[in-house]
This record gives sequence, C-alpha cells and structure tokens, in this order.
Amino acid sequence: RFCLKKYDEGTVQGHINFLTSEPYSDRYFDILETRKSLPVFAKRRKILKLVANHSVTVIVGETGSGKTTQIPQFLVEAGYCSVPGAKPYMIGCTQPRRVAAMSVSKRVAEEMDVAWGKQVGYSVRFEKKAGSETVLKYCTDGMLLREAMTDPLLSAYSCILIDEAHERTLSTDILLGLLKGLTVSRPHDFKLIVMSATLDAQKFQGYFDNAPLLQVSGRMFPVEMMYLQQPATDYFEETIRTAVTICTNEPPGDVLLFLTGEDEIEDAVARIESELEGTEDMCGPVTVYPLYASLPQYEQQRVFDPAPGPSKPGGRPGRKVICATNIAESSLTIDGIVYVIDPGFSKQKLYEPRARSESLQVAPISRASANQRAGRAGRTRPGKCFRLYTELAFNTVLEETTFPEILRSNLSMVVMHMLKLGIRDLVHFDFLDPPAPETLLRALEELVNLGAINEEGELTRTGHMMSEFPVEPEMAKMLVASSELGCVHESLSVAAMLSTSGNVFLRPKKAAKAADSAKRKFTHSSGDHLTLLNVFHAYKQTGKENGKEKDRATWCWENYLNHRTLKSADMVRGQLSGIMQKCGLLDVDRTPPTSQSTSSHFRRVLASIACGYFMRVAFRQGGNKDASYLTVMDHQLVGTHPSCTLTHRPDWVLYQEFVRTDKRFIRTCSAIEPDVLLDASPEYYNLDLFPEGSIKNELQRVARRRKK
Ligand code: ADP
Ligand code: MG
Repeated sequence: RFCLKKYDEGTVQGHINFLTSEPYSDRYFDILETRKSLPVFAKRRKILKLVANHSVTVIVGETGSGKTTQIPQFLVEAGYCSVPGAKPYMIGCTQPRRVAAMSVSKRVAEEMDVAWGKQVGYSVRFEKKAGSETVLKYCTDGMLLREAMTDPLLSAYSCILIDEAHERTLSTDILLGLLKGLTVSRPHDFKLIVMSATLDAQKFQGYFDNAPLLQVSGRMFPVEMMYLQQPATDYFEETIRTAVTICTNEPPGDVLLFLTGEDEIEDAVARIESELEGTEDMCGPVTVYPLYASLPQYEQQRVFDPAPGPSKPGGRPGRKVICATNIAESSLTIDGIVYVIDPGFSKQKLYEPRARSESLQVAPISRASANQRAGRAGRTRPGKCFRLYTELAFNTVLEETTFPEILRSNLSMVVMHMLKLGIRDLVHFDFLDPPAPETLLRALEELVNLGAINEEGELTRTGHMMSEFPVEPEMAKMLVASSELGCVHESLSVAAMLSTSGNVFLRPKKAAKAADSAKRKFTHSSGDHLTLLNVFHAYKQTGKENGKEKDRATWCWENYLNHRTLKSADMVRGQLSGIMQKCGLLDVDRTPPTSQSTSSHFRRVLASIACGYFMRVAFRQGGNKDASYLTVMDHQLVGTHPSCTLTHRPDWVLYQEFVRTDKRFIRTCSAIEPDVLLDASPEYYNLDLFPEGSIKNELQRVARRRKK
C-alpha cells in the first residue's frame, strides 16, 4: 500500500521541503547538523528496513538518543504518509505525558521546517493543535485511545509509535493490546513501533510474537554517584541545601532536581532563588526554572533556554537549575545537565481494590527510575548524581521497577472505554500484564452503580454518553445527570474547575492572612464545590463588557487567585460544553445561571455532583478534628483538609479526593443531604446489602423517615 522512497531520498539531501514545497531555511540546515549527531540518526537505514519488513518493531535506546524526535520523521520522509490518489495517512506518536507531546511536537515542527500545528501537530486532553494537513501527530496515549473509540481501525494512521512504553501507563497498556489486534486486521497498511528507554524490552518482544528488536546505544559519560551517609530527615530541605551547595561549590554545569508536584516545585524555586541572593559574584548568575504539567506551554519551553552567561566579562559563567517532576526523568531531554539531585520520591497512583480507594501518594521511586534520573547527568560530559538516600536504601528499599499502572489503578474508566471499543470479553483481553480479576470486577460493579452498564455488562444509553467525556466516569455521570436536574451550566463550571490541575487559590506565605480573607469573599456555606463555582462565576463576570485579558489578570492578582488555572478551566468548560451539546444534553435556550442562583438551585447542583460522586462520601464521627469523619467507601477515619471552606461540621460530606500524608485528609468537601445520596444510586445505597455499622443505621433512619 505504501509508496516508499529509497531510503536516503527526501529531505535529508534535497533543498526543497517536500511537505511545503518551499526552500528549506538556513535554520533547518543548522538543526540538521545537530540531528545528524544523534545516535539514532546512524541507525536510520536499519530502522526503516526493519519497519518495512515487519508489522511490529521494538526499539530500545538510552534517553536522549533521538528516538522521540527523529524516528517519526524518518517514517514521514520515507513515504509512510503518502498514498497515491488518496488522502495522506498520518504518523502518530504517543507520549504518556501531555507536556512531552506538546513540547516535542514543537521541536519537531522546527526540525522539519514546517508550521507547528499544521504538518506537525499535537493532541492532548482538552487541547489540540493539528489539522487536515497534519502528517505527524504527537498525542497522549489517552487521546489515541479516545480516537480508537470513534475509529477502531485507526484508519487515519499508517504508523503508530508507542513511545516510553516502559512507563507502562494504563492507556499505553490498553493501546498495546488494541494495536496488536490491529496488526492482524490491517496486515498490509499498518506499522507499529514500540519504543522504550529501559532494557526490559524482551517483555515487549515476547508479547509481539518475537518482533525484531533494535538497540540504539547512546553516548553516555560516567556519572559519579553520591549517597547520603544517614537517611535525610526532610527530603525537601535536603534538596534545597544540595542545590545551593552545588551552585556555590561545584564547577559550572546545569542542575536538574526532581520533586513530586507543583506546590513543592514552586516552593523550591522561591527558596533556591532567595538563598542564592547576593552570591552572584561568588558563583555566577543562576536562573531557576520550574517544570511541571500544568505550567503553560511557553513557560515549559523556557527550560530549553541556554544558561545565563557571566554577569561581567571574564566573570564566572552562569548556570540554570531546573526543578522538575518526573517529566524530566525520560520524556524530556534537556541538554547541558551535569548535576542531578534525586530525593528518591515521586507522586504515584495507588489502588486498593478491596477498599475501592484510589489515591495519589508520594512514594519511593524504583531503582530503574533512579538510574534513569542519574543518567540525565551524563549526556554531554561526565556528571554527578546526588542521591538523597543511603546506598543501603537504594539496594534494599527501592523496588526493581515501577509496578505497571494497570495493576494499581481503579479500572472503571478503562473498562468503560473498552466496552465502548466493543471489547466484551475483558477477562480474555490480551493484556501485557492482566489486572487482577477482582479489580476488573470492582470496575464493572462501579459502572453498574453509576448506571453506565446494565446487569449484562452492556453500555446503557447513559453509559454511551458518559464515554464521550474525557473525564473519569464519576464526573461524566455528574454532567449527564445535571441535564435532568436542570443545572447544566453550573455543573459544567464545577467540572471544569475540578478538572484543572493547578491550585486556584494562591496563598503566598508572606500574605497568608490577606489571601485567606480574599478567599472568604467567595466562600459558600455548603463547602468547596460551590465556592469554586462562585470563583468561576466572578471570574467570568470580570471584564465581561470589554473582555480584556488584562483586567482579569489584575482581578485574579488582587484576589489571590491563579489566573492560569481559571483560564484553563474556562477552556476546559468550553470543551465539555461542546460534548454536552453533541450528546443533546445542553439546553441552549435556558436562561443564564446567575439570575436564579437560589438555594434550591444550588441544592440541585450538589445533587448532580452526588449523582457521580456518591461513593466518595463520609459520615461525621465524635472523634477529634483529624479523625472526625468515617468514609463510606472504605471505613477510614479522616479529617477535612485545612484548605476546606466548610465552616460547620455537617453530618455528611461529599469529597473529591482522599489524601494520605502523615495524616488522612479528605479534600474539596461539601455538605450533602443523605436523601440525595439514596437517590443518586439506589444500587450502591441498597441498604439490604450495606455493611453493618453506624453508617447503615443512620441511612436506615433516613430511609424510614422518607417513607413516612
Ligand atoms: P529520546 O526520545 O531518545 O529520549 P529525544 O528525541 O527526546 O530523545 O531527544 C533528542 C535530542 O533532541 C536531545 O538531545 C534534546 O536535547 C533535543 N531536544 C528535544 N526537544 C528539544 C527542544 N524543545 N529544544 C531543544 N532541543 C530539544
Ligand atoms: Mg523520548
């Protein structure tokens, strides 16, 4: 089916860009020189030959060897997009992380000398920059899975590259199973390339019936390992201390340090900057950059800026310090890193099927991850890695590799998607690592409780609509339910606010009081959900007449609100609202919400939230503040999070998130009426089957009262 060119034809030698028919710019040739020095480039012929002769190829290579940026280009250049007389095919390359998909696509557009978003684009949840001319698209694994739901043959693609397969995210694992099937149903016009960073490639090879394996060796310089003699008492403080020491004592070279999330990273940036204040003469200028997923694109891109030069002629050269999440572990390669600081932790998803509770927890990384992190220090010259734990801990405490996500997740979303994809026999689906039957069963049960599937395990009408939304099933249900309850607009706003990853309320340490009093202006007595709604409405009202971005930014700043988060919520809301419309759930003629914001109306909004999140509810106990509620789902004693805006202690609260640090918290909480819960899911709140205890007694009392 393909009309492949001879291997070395095409861009690499010509002077006219075959994608745009324009002459290449000078910049193209500059970048081409850098590209040619990447280890992958030397394997170009070999890679193309393997792909031409096999439906599945596995490629393993050190991070930074050029897999992500180069191999998809080779396929485009070789002719895998052109079909004589028909619409061109696309090459798709998946990434586990949205930041990587966006940033890499931008880089590749530059390398190919085309416009970003035209010939080379990206597609991530809630954001897409690609069009009819696109021949190469980087997308998150989750987005490709979504595309498969509407087009199970993925007929727009001739080649799919599953990148960072070693990360074994949930979506990647499901995709591998689906695409394995696709190589059978499209034997002549579909190619699958699985790319991975670690050497655990035999597993992939075995799974794909002994597909050929190509190893690309990277150039690696030695990395000196430094361990702590004693375990650190506080890894954050230790990280800051180490970063400052490197800047003041070590020879020039950039620093990369790993922390677990946005808050920690922003704190670290501020701390390092302030501790280095006034040291410029001694250690040269230092620029500190944050790098995490919810950062806007242009700020993410700044980590690739060169380090600052000396502040005066002949002075010490400057350096950059990058404070990143796991993103920088293997998906993004930043040149010039010589020092890596690895505290040994990352935020990980944990799931206990028996308790049905999924939570994000800061947990020790695996040895494989630790080695990846260390490797980032030796890309351009010999480097140093500071492990903020003992060598003994490295050898005895850390697990060999990270557990695949499919074995530690709530699978209800995946199961819903698989049903939508037409896969009925979940138990016999060809998983790389099959999840425990119990986890699958729990997922099915949860979907029954949500009304998404019937007792036969088929998607219901509600379930079909729910699967249109790129959000967890609980939220999808909340949105679908809001239509009947007549509060679509409010529920959309709440869902959008809950979907953005950034924290909307800013609370700088120096202005905590002022921030708290600003927050009080938005506080709704029923708790956090309607408080978020108030914030969103107020934001939308601001600058309504002239719609000036600047006014809104100022307003946010004055009210200690995160403008970026609100802007992104607004965009997410637009997308979700589009899907509502598509499903016929949006009553466009309804009067705008603010005119009828009465308490009965708010009660309906809370009811719609409960229609989705009825499983995340807790009941008041006598205990102290830190253990004042008992969760219905798994009988844990929890306290409400300090950020919670509830001023009283209602009998029942609905929460969004269960957080386990040294204490157990429920976060984003609102008061909820027990009646509402009984209505939200009669299946889940079937009192005949409910476990004995104080919660059941109370619910029975409510049910009896209702009968009267
Ligand atoms: P791999 O996928 O094998 O880890 P990549 O293809 O991601 O390797 O990276 C290859 C090279 O491309 C790296 O040396 C990196 O520095 C460079 N690179 C990637 N993204 C950018 C960018 N946004 N700006 C500048 N250089 C980049
Ligand atoms: Mg890569």
